Amino acid sequence: MTNMMESTHKFSIAATDPNLEKDDLIVVTGAGGFIAGSLVRYFHDQGFTNLRAVDKKPLPEWYQRVPGVECLCMDLSQEKNCIRAVEGATEVYNLAADMGGMGFIERFRVECMRSILINTHMLESAYRAGVQRYFFSSSACAYNTQLQQDPNVRALREGDAYPAFAERGYGWEKLMSEMMCQEYTAERGMKTFIARFHNVYGPNGTWDGGREKAPAAITRKVISAKDTGKLEITIWGDGHQTRSYMYIEDCVKGIDMIMHCDALLATPINLGSSELISVNELVSIAESIGGVKLERSYDLNAPRGVAGRNSDNTFIQKMLGWEPKTSFRDGLTKTYAWIEQQYVDRKAGKRVVID
Ligand code: NAD
Repeated sequence: MTNMMESTHKFSIAATDPNLEKDDLIVVTGAGGFIAGSLVRYFHDQGFTNLRAVDKKPLPEWYQRVPGVECLCMDLSQEKNCIRAVEGATEVYNLAADMGGMGFIERFRVECMRSILINTHMLESAYRAGVQRYFFSSSACAYNTQLQQDPNVRALREGDAYPAFAERGYGWEKLMSEMMCQEYTAERGMKTFIARFHNVYGPNGTWDGGREKAPAAITRKVISAKDTGKLEITIWGDGHQTRSYMYIEDCVKGIDMIMHCDALLATPINLGSSELISVNELVSIAESIGGVKLERSYDLNAPRGVAGRNSDNTFIQKMLGWEPKTSFRDGLTKTYAWIEQQYVDRKAGKRVVID
């Protein structure tokens, strides 16, 4: 695919794509979840009027519901449901996957790997339905884990996925699904686009229950400690692990730009922030937003993933002249406010979107 990477850098976004009408059908899967839910809202706000949102969760459990959007509750690991999901679609964004933070993906590898059924059936159904563009949400977990043994990591470049040594279960599923997208482009001519997300956080995401990622989990712990007066926090690992975290608004904007850049056809690209943060720093930022200081203890037996991971944004800068830029402090301030509201509502016995 290297020859494709070197071609023109012309791109638009959905709203300015001359081949996409505002009433063309856009299908988003995993739309009851965090990122896809925000993506549906984004397209709605951009003036698209024919949106179909699909997820296997029952509707009351969806994180966001956008007025006027067709919602289908279907299990996309079954082919017949994928055929129905893409019927009449011009563009398909496949974000459905069984996933969660480290606690989930280290424990439930079978569930993570079974997501391959979703992308397999979605690709074939989209191809048969003649969709114009197909987007696949891959992950930084597809990268070679041997390059991520040190908290002072060299940021990961797109070429670092091979030789392959992905995260067991979840990462291998992503790598294999990426390749399937690439072959549908190479062999069958369907336009596929692949972004490797690095940790995404923000409002309307999982904040409790076991699938939440570090920013939401730590924010919730800080809010809870403040509320209960028990000013202590348990941190998974030794606190030195590093990651970069991308704010949700950057993520949905990036998805749109990548999907409409023909020079990125079937070419995996990093979509992540390059601001490297240690878990200890994350806790300090959450504490300072909450105006509290907690006594820290470290659970060295808890799941913690690779030692360090960052996104090298040289390629996305070159191709799109853009990279996710929301500072972690700004993004976490908005996320903190949202989680705090959820926390207060739940305590008052109100139904919250996520628990
Ligand atoms: P999420 O769990 O909030 O959303 C995923 C949604 O997919 C869920 O609502 C789930 O019900 C749905 N789903 C799972 N199996 C399904 C099935 N068989 N049929 C239909 N729907 C099904 O996760 P998210 O954070 O919004 O992630 C979206 C995508 O981005 C996933 O593919 C994920 O692997 C990828 N990703 C996310 C992150 C991140 O930091 N959040 C990082 C890397 C990659």
